[in-house]
Amino acid sequence: MHKNSYLNSPLLLNDDYSLREHPHLYFAGQMTGVEGYVESAASGLAVGIYLSRALAGKEKLVFPPETAIGALSHYISNPDVRHFQPMNINFGLISPWDGPRIRGKKEKNHAIAMRSLNILENYKNFLHD
Ligand SMILES: Cc1cc2nc3c(=O)[nH]c(=O)nc-3n(C[C@H](O)[C@H](O)[C@H](O)COP(=O)(O)OP(=O)(O)OC[C@H]3O[C@@H](n4cnc5c(N)ncnc54)[C@H](O)[C@@H]3O)c2cc1C
Repeated sequence: MHKNSYLNSPLLLNDDYSLREHPHLYFAGQMTGVEGYVESAASGLAVGIYLSRALAGKEKLVFPPETAIGALSHYISNPDVRHFQPMNINFGLISPWDGPRIRGKKEKNHAIAMRSLNILENYKNFLHD
């Protein structure tokens, strides 16, 4: 057993991991309610990007909820989430498949992953603007 201390992020944080009441202050990692090595590192990467954009006076550009990295921040900052618990990334956090009907969980998850990669390509282009 180990103690996991984390913020009440759905009440406190925006979807870019900044504090709602003090948006110049950012949090990252397990203390925000993401769980695990990869998830904590991913939130740190996201905050690094968001903070550097904010310092450069650029518009806020949050990873979309169709991507794993974006789904995490949308989950932890969603005020509608009841009984908030830290979460590893999983397909349940990512926006549901909204394309043509696909039979089979494996095939649907593959389509969600491909959709995410396409979105990330566009996202990377926006970042360079
Ligand atoms: C026993 C155990 C097993 C785990 N196994 C897995 C696993 O198999 N796979 C997996 O994905 N995840 C696992 N986890 C979870 C994983 O370790 C965490 O999700 C991840 O390390 C969180 O990363 P983080 O950078 O947010 O926080 P941390 O790794 O906790 O890093 C926080 C850092 O901040 C430092 N710090 C704290 N307070 C201060 C302060 N006041 N000033 C300066 N520095 C400070 C700490 O010393 C620490 O170095 C495990 C956790 C535990 C406890």
